[in-house]
Amino acid sequence: MSSTQLLPESTLDRAADVDVVVIGAGFSGLYMLHKLRELGFSARVLEAGDGLGGTWYWNRYPGARVDVQSIEYSYSFSEEIQEEWEWSELFSPQREIEAYINWVADKLDLRRNISLSTRVASASYDESASTWTVSTDTGEHIVSQFNIAATGCLSAPLEPDIPGLHSFAGTTLYTNRFPKEGFDFSGLRAGVIGTGSSGVQSIPVIAQQASSLVVFQRSAAYSRPSNTRPFEPGEYEGMKLDYDSIREAERKSPAGVVLSGALAVVAAGATRDILETPVAERMAAIDEYGWLAPLAWTDLQTDEQANAAAVEIYAELVRRVVHDPGVAASLVPRYPMGCKRMIVDVDYFETYNQPHVRLVDLRQGGIVAITPTGVETAQGSFDLDVLVLATGFDAMTGALRRIDFRGRDGASLADYWDEEGPVSYLGLGVAGFPNLFTVTGPGSPSVLSNMVVSIEQHVEWIADCLVHMRSTGYSSIEAEVEPSLEWVEHVRSLAEGTVRVADSCSSWYLGANVPGKKRIYMPYSGGLPAYRAKCDEVVAAGYEGFKLK
Ligand code: NAP
Repeated sequence: MSSTQLLPESTLDRAADVDVVVIGAGFSGLYMLHKLRELGFSARVLEAGDGLGGTWYWNRYPGARVDVQSIEYSYSFSEEIQEEWEWSELFSPQREIEAYINWVADKLDLRRNISLSTRVASASYDESASTWTVSTDTGEHIVSQFNIAATGCLSAPLEPDIPGLHSFAGTTLYTNRFPKEGFDFSGLRAGVIGTGSSGVQSIPVIAQQASSLVVFQRSAAYSRPSNTRPFEPGEYEGMKLDYDSIREAERKSPAGVVLSGALAVVAAGATRDILETPVAERMAAIDEYGWLAPLAWTDLQTDEQANAAAVEIYAELVRRVVHDPGVAASLVPRYPMGCKRMIVDVDYFETYNQPHVRLVDLRQGGIVAITPTGVETAQGSFDLDVLVLATGFDAMTGALRRIDFRGRDGASLADYWDEEGPVSYLGLGVAGFPNLFTVTGPGSPSVLSNMVVSIEQHVEWIADCLVHMRSTGYSSIEAEVEPSLEWVEHVRSLAEGTVRVADSCSSWYLGANVPGKKRIYMPYSGGLPAYRAKCDEVVAAGYEGFKLK
């Protein structure tokens, strides 16, 4: 655990400055660094932010919190870390997760190999030396044998294409790069554009402070209460005693989650088809499952009619909270449930019962422009002092595309993916880009799972691979084209026939929120155990599907 227990750092390739450059210091980059050092590789982590945490550094908007219970959304690789850290509640707020990440970094003495405020601009591969040269916005050029992109799935912010966006004379804030010092909405007329997870989590907290709040909703969200709360006396200690079995069950579960509400219910397996259930009995599921009632059916994912029937249950749940029937109707989505990730919130629907909160349903007339005074819509203009944009990310591929990766013969990763879609082998490697690994890249379970469980699996797989290369004397590894295309097809086929890819679904999983992005379902939806088994089989077959030189 301490640095004295680390093996002496050795350089694999003497032409390189370090064995490995890791891009990003979030959950994945930090564990990757620890693992590499433990195994005796020299490594340097480059991080654009001026603090650690990745997603949990940038997304510090009011109300930001995790949607998987913290006891599960945390590292499992070290019993010491698990034992020593104390979570304060079921679903921790951003500041607690950021504190945890910093505490882990100090405990493992990671900071000495991390350069903050250092954004990677480009990286190019030199085939003759089997090395990467990474260039940063600070003017450095670092040569390494391996390049590991721990760049996150939701880390490339999207700016909405709204006319006049930059003309607003008040304060414009983005949830995905919220000011470090916070922002006091007290006494201000606030507006929020975007009702995905970030909007839904921030709206209730902004409403508590602002003198008025206008929510501009283009698509309604599927959300349910997190029911977060501090632990009861003795509860956490009891869970800690059971940590080994919780972790074991996580690894075997499809989504890497055993404690967290909806996912756990779905994972445990609903038993009834909604279309086989008499209409009168469907609503009764609310008594049994509460907000999970719309999810407690077997035919949701594959039958749009069944899905629509479950949405009726969801609509009833919303109506039971939101007093104004028109507002309640506006808050019900018109796309299938399961198309996008279900959000967990704190008092989201209750917020719309407050007299100073107004919902503008953009389905009845969209945004025309942002003006110096506020937001102009086809339904009228709204004067604001502060405008919050919760408008999302170029997910899964965005952060990788924004680095100018040049592989063999100077080929551009961005161009390759623009033309072919996000071709990747297992979400770990890309043909034409030897010695580049992606942690939780497209084609892996990543965003459909507890991210930390998926991150640990990828970090450990990559670390084992580097050890294998060192011990066998290989200098390069590269995904092969055919197995990569087969894997992409396999990932596509798993989602086929489900509401995830229905015509009525336009999620970021499909890239549908980014103009011009190829519509391809990016994450692997076959569950963690099957995915892990595939990765293990690839290793057992001598890194089948990869070319080792
Ligand atoms: P998002 O889910 O992509 O939501 C973006 C929102 O902005 C959508 O409501 C979208 O409407 C709206 N929007 C975008 N451009 C617009 C425009 N020009 N005019 C009006 N509305 C516009 O982004 P997010 O909320 O940041 O969440 C992204 C993902 O991050 C989540 O799905 C989740 O996986 C993760 N996340 C997790 C947590 C958590 O676990 N606690 C918290 C935050 C985020 P349309 O839907 O109509 O495009």
